[in-house]
Amino acid sequence: MATTGTKSFQNLIGGEWTDAASGETFESTSPADGETIGVFPRSGPEEVDRAVEAAKAAFEEWRLVPAPKRGEILFNLARILEREKTALTDLMTHEMGKVKAEAGGDVQEAIDITYYMAGEGRRLFGQTTPSELRDKWNMSVRQPIGVVGAITPWNFPIAIPSWKMIPALVCGNTVVLKPARDTPALGERFVELIAEAGIPAGVVNVVHGGGGSVGDRLVRHPDVRVISLTGSRETGVEVLKAAADTLTHVHLELGGKNAIIVMDDADLDLAVEGILWSAFGTSGQRCTAASRVIAHEAVYAALQSKLVARVEKLRLGPGWEDDTDVGPVINKDAIEKIHSYTEIGRDEGATLLTGGEPATDGDLAKGFFYRPTIFADVDPQMRVAQEEIFGPTTALIRVRDVDEAIRVSNGIKFGLSSSIFTRDVNTAFRAMRDLEAGITYVNAGTIGAEVHLPFGGTKDTGNGHREAGQAALDVFTEWKSIYVDYSGKLQRAQIDPS
Ligand code: NAD
Repeated sequence: MATTGTKSFQNLIGGEWTDAASGETFESTSPADGETIGVFPRSGPEEVDRAVEAAKAAFEEWRLVPAPKRGEILFNLARILEREKTALTDLMTHEMGKVKAEAGGDVQEAIDITYYMAGEGRRLFGQTTPSELRDKWNMSVRQPIGVVGAITPWNFPIAIPSWKMIPALVCGNTVVLKPARDTPALGERFVELIAEAGIPAGVVNVVHGGGGSVGDRLVRHPDVRVISLTGSRETGVEVLKAAADTLTHVHLELGGKNAIIVMDDADLDLAVEGILWSAFGTSGQRCTAASRVIAHEAVYAALQSKLVARVEKLRLGPGWEDDTDVGPVINKDAIEKIHSYTEIGRDEGATLLTGGEPATDGDLAKGFFYRPTIFADVDPQMRVAQEEIFGPTTALIRVRDVDEAIRVSNGIKFGLSSSIFTRDVNTAFRAMRDLEAGITYVNAGTIGAEVHLPFGGTKDTGNGHREAGQAALDVFTEWKSIYVDYSGKLQRAQIDPS
């Protein structure tokens, strides 16, 4: 419940902090104990239109600021983020629910991408290449595109906005951010820090509100040239359709159903560590979470008993407490969805080894906690092995050899992350080649991306783009090819002799 002391937040449009024209608001509350984090403007199409107009106007000047200068502002931002890391981490444990170490990691990702992309201000390399004609110069350069609409989920409330906005900015674009309804305070705080770093008014704007109102208007707005969305597959499909009429570029980072393969020659204790971290870190609410474990039959039983023993020792609690291993899930809908999959798994005939219910003892009843859940004897075609649950649930699948393991790992519609534990270099290289995923880890779990490598997935996880690394520049720039003829005469390519 909001009280008179509850902090009110606003949209940032063209450098002005403003409320929604309707005066309507919504609240952000902590998933750990229901505490009110703040009250936010429930914006609509009107606020989006104003923000896009401001971003469009600001683009005309921002695109002309030399890229190294844009980079300098971002270096400044990186230092500000370092200064604010502890406060942002603390806010994240409250608003999103992550445990402290993971919340710190989320902020660190933003710091890392900001330093990395700030340096890009002095690169943004194009190419020069010979011409087929004499006295002619050929080159290609990256150019900014215009207004970028960034639509982000709640599970990486600082990192994901940073992965979209920072490369967009260094490339010379302007941005309208729509943060997730569950983590608006973090989205807003990030934008405040960007403004403090010296980004001019209108270059970054934030509009709070729902996906169907603010998000949809942003996607359909004719002056938005790029939409970068991270969210569920269903939202991705809706956004892609909505953007079709305006032919807006759409960059999608969607769901996953990632597997860890454990071969018969694996270091089992290491594999258990990798599974614990990947399946139950962030309470399983990562797009890269290991929601399947594919174990060779020779180690299946041993792996299962080691895993269950460790999982049952995990301590649930609020993310801000030092000894918490697993925090809450994001909201009531999430608890219901996760629990419905427990029922589905049971009905399908999988064996529930541990967990399978909300945790409500003591203060846990104030929040949304679900016990880490492991299903065994899972058939690869069961729904618990095919669909994204997005909670602390993983499914153990038994296989006979590496061929079957790779087949099962690939036998889903998503293609984000993948992993194999093996000591056999030949097996490792086969997996690196054959796993259908944007990311493969060898002897590590399914999570742990670093910002200077491309991030994203194949198949239904996206539409062919990548976040982070050099690949992100392709989302936020367009290539221009330039031909300079200094021969003084008309030279016709493909026709005249050189
Ligand atoms: P979601 O799809 O419900 O929402 C994501 C964002 O889209 C939110 O800001 C939401 O308000 C907005 N939105 C919803 N409907 C919209 C519409 N019709 N038009 C425009 N915007 C709309 O996802 P979520 O629950 O916030 O996040 C969890 C999902 O995100 C999971 O599926 C997870 O796998 C995925 N995810 C993917 C990655 C990745 O990099 N591949 C990373 C993190 C999360």
